[in-house]
Amino acid sequence: MATILKGAPVAAALNERTQALCEELNAKGIVPTLAVVRVGAREDDLSYERGVTKRCQALGVGVKQFVLDAQATQGELLEVIDQINRDKAIHGCLLFRPLPPQMDDRQVRAALAPEKDVDGVTDLSLAGVFTNAPVGFPPCTAQACAEILDFYGVNLSGKRVTVVGRSLVVGKPVAMLLDRRNATVTMCNSRTRDLPAICREADVVVVAMGKMGAIGGDCLRPGQVVVDVGIHVDETGKLRGDVCFDQAEPVVEAITPVPGGVGAVTTSVLVGHVAQAAASMCN
Ligand code: NAP
Repeated sequence: MATILKGAPVAAALNERTQALCEELNAKGIVPTLAVVRVGAREDDLSYERGVTKRCQALGVGVKQFVLDAQATQGELLEVIDQINRDKAIHGCLLFRPLPPQMDDRQVRAALAPEKDVDGVTDLSLAGVFTNAPVGFPPCTAQACAEILDFYGVNLSGKRVTVVGRSLVVGKPVAMLLDRRNATVTMCNSRTRDLPAICREADVVVVAMGKMGAIGGDCLRPGQVVVDVGIHVDETGKLRGDVCFDQAEPVVEAITPVPGGVGAVTTSVLVGHVAQAAASMCN
């Protein structure tokens, strides 16, 4: 029976810090404020937006919504981003991606003012993740994985970590954040040969591959800590991860659940970044 590394207590600890910072800022007449930019109305974006809005409201962070039609042009989106960049009352921006095909993701990301990039999408924020320089913020999901491991006291120094996935949103930044904690990190991709063996070798396995239940019992062994980033809805409407929980849980030492694991921490990381961005802008 594995220990279940629930996200809720991790989120609560982060929220406590954010709330204290918001109170300090409120006393100076500053309301940390997040701009939420959505193009179209994808169900998973709407659901994340509801979660973020609720969390912001609970912690004293303002939210301004900018919603564009799915057919909007890149120019229209760039105008919205420019407005956000110039608005001194906005401290952070969450931009839902992937963008529709008529838009150039790289150009849009580059248009956002780096100091308002609370979700690690600009090249400057990503450079900060890779160089460990105090610029920008890491992508929230990647940081959520690291926060969970830190909160539960998983000492990574000298440990072998396998990260399954190499996206800029999760895989690559999480690999860097765990490298900072002196883990020996192996990052896998869709061409990796013998993925089960590379997973079994690791002390900690972080799975961000976007394939429901793809990491099964053959990839795991006793003593491991597993962080499951995947989110999928199965045929019965239940949320599932990239890890087959029923096969993993009897084998490994500890595992994050889906739902209630990484996803539960991500919004708290984001709202914390908004408060920190506001604090650094007013200093
Ligand atoms: P992504 O952009 O689709 O990346 C998936 C990665 O997995 C790619 O690097 C891919 O390799 C790799 N991969 C695919 N099949 C593989 C295989 N058989 N063996 C090894 N690697 C393989 O996905 P993402 O945006 O990183 O997201 C990953 C998962 O996390 C998704 O399920 C997503 O829904 C979830 N997610 C959760 C949160 C949260 O807050 N909990 C936030 C964001 C995303 P290649 O590069 O070679 O294609």
